[in-house]
Amino acid sequence: MDLLSSLINIVGEDRVSNNQEELFIYSRDSGAQHPRKADYVVMPKTVDEVQQIVILANKEKIPITPLGGGFTLSALVVPNKAGIVLDMKRMDKIIEVNDIGRYAVVEAGVSQAALKTYLEKNYPTLQHSTPEAPPTVTVVGNALIQGHGHISPRYGVNSDMINGMEVVLPTGEVCKIGSCSVSPYWFTRGPLPDLSGLFIGWFGTTGVVTKLSIRLYPKPPYREVMAFSTDDIDSITDAIREVMHLDLLEDFFLITQEKPDWMNHVFFVIIVSAHAKEELELKKDMYKKLFRAFKGGDKVKFVEDLHPALEKRFLDVPPLAALAADFRKGGGFEYTGAILPLNKVPEAWRKGIEIAHKHGMIVSYVHQVLMGNSIMFGFNYSFNRADEEDVEKTRKALDESNRLTFELGGIVWKGEVGAQKLAMERMDPNTADLIKKIKGLLDPNGIMNPGNWEK
Ligand SMILES: Cc1cc2nc3c(=O)[nH]c(=O)nc-3n(C[C@H](O)[C@H](O)[C@H](O)COP(=O)(O)OP(=O)(O)OC[C@H]3O[C@@H](n4cnc5c(N)ncnc54)[C@H](O)[C@@H]3O)c2cc1C
Repeated sequence: MDLLSSLINIVGEDRVSNNQEELFIYSRDSGAQHPRKADYVVMPKTVDEVQQIVILANKEKIPITPLGGGFTLSALVVPNKAGIVLDMKRMDKIIEVNDIGRYAVVEAGVSQAALKTYLEKNYPTLQHSTPEAPPTVTVVGNALIQGHGHISPRYGVNSDMINGMEVVLPTGEVCKIGSCSVSPYWFTRGPLPDLSGLFIGWFGTTGVVTKLSIRLYPKPPYREVMAFSTDDIDSITDAIREVMHLDLLEDFFLITQEKPDWMNHVFFVIIVSAHAKEELELKKDMYKKLFRAFKGGDKVKFVEDLHPALEKRFLDVPPLAALAADFRKGGGFEYTGAILPLNKVPEAWRKGIEIAHKHGMIVSYVHQVLMGNSIMFGFNYSFNRADEEDVEKTRKALDESNRLTFELGGIVWKGEVGAQKLAMERMDPNTADLIKKIKGLLDPNGIMNPGNWEK
C-alpha cells in the first residue's frame, strides 16, 4: 500500500492531504526564512492515531515535523527534509482543570485563546501565562520552546510551568512524564528523575507531545500599568535590577521605537496587580518612590499622561506591545529573541541600533525581563513580505543579531536552523555529544524534525 493510502487508513480521507495548495501553505511560516515543502499534511485527532502515524513513519523512515500554531517565525515547523507535517490542531480538548492543585491538562492542539477563554468563563480567579503571540498558537508548542508569557517576570518562563506530559516517542511507545506516570494527578514533575528535559527545547526532535499539564496562577482583580522613561541607556541594567529587587510586579517589559518621535526613548512598562485597591496603590507608590530615589532622581521619569490607547494595549492579556512594529506595511515581522545576561543590555541596545540602521530599518525593541535573572531582548525587524529584497535584508539582520547575541554571552531563543548551528558550534563538545547520543537513543532513524539541533 502506498503511504497516502496508509495515512488515510489511520486518520480518514478528510485529515490527510498531499494537495499542492495545502503543501504550499505548510511550506512557509510568517517569518523571513526560506520555504521548504512537505509531502503530506496529517491532522490526527487521538493519541492512538499519532502513535500509528509515528510507527508507520519510523518503519518507512519518513520525517515528521510536529506543528502547533506554527508561529515561532523561525521556520521550526517548516520541514527541512520533506515528509509529514503533523498538524496537532484537531487534538483540541481541555481535559481537566484542577483548581485546587492549580493546573490544566490540555491536548497538544489547544490554543492560547481557547484556554484563556475557558478559564475566564469557568475559573475566573485563575490564569495561565499567555505569550504575546497570535491567539491561535498552542499552549503546548509555547511551553515546549521555553516561551514566556504575561506573568513570566513573576513566575518564570512557561516551560518552568510544565507539571508533566504524555509523549509518543519516535519509536511509537506512549510515555508519561512526571507525577502522571505514577498517579492520576498531573500536579508535579518530581520527586522523580525529571525526564521533561528530554522534550523541552528540542523543537520536536525527540517525540510528539500529545498532552501536557500546565500550571495556573491566581488572577488578582486589580491591574494597572505604569510607565517610566529615560534616555540614559547605561542606567538600564541598574534600573532593571532595582525594579526586580522590589519583587512586586506581574509583568515588566522595555519598549522603544524610533518612530513616532515621542516613542524614541527607553520606556519601562510595569504591570502591577493586586487583590485590593490599597494593595495596588501601595505597589504603585513603591515603584514611583524607587525611581524618585534612583541615581539622584533625574534619570528616570514617571510618564504621567500615558496615552489611553497605549494603556489599553499594555494592559491587555497578553499585552500588544509589538503591534506597532509593522513599519513597512507588508505584514512581515521577525525577531531575534536574545536571552541575555542583564549587564549586557546597554551594549546590545547600541549594537542592535547599528544593525537595524545598516539595513535601512527603523529600530523597534520589545524586551521582557524574566524573573530578574535575564531578559528576552527582542531585536525586531518589520519587512514587506512581497518585496524579496526586503526579506533578504531581514535574513541578514537576523543573522547579525544572532551572532551578536552569542558574542554578548547570550543564547538565541527559538532560533532558526542557522542560529541553532551557531549555538552548537560554541557548545562544550561533551554537551553537544550528549545531545547527539540522547537523540540517537530516542530517535534511531532520525525521523523527528530532522535538521534541527544538528551540527
Ligand atoms: C507578534 C508575535 C509576538 C510573539 N510574542 C511571543 C511572546 O511574548 N512570548 C513567546 O513565548 N512567544 C512569542 N512569540 C513566538 C511564538 O508565536 C510563540 O512562542 C508560540 O506560542 C509558539 O507556539 P506554536 O504553537 O506556534 O508553536 P509551533 O511553531 O507550532 O512549534 C514550535 C516548536 O515546537 C514543536 N512542537 C509543536 N507542537 C509540538 C508537539 N505537540 N510535540 C512536539 N513538538 C511540538 C514544533 O515542531 C516546533 O519545533 C510571538 C510571535 C509573534 C508572531
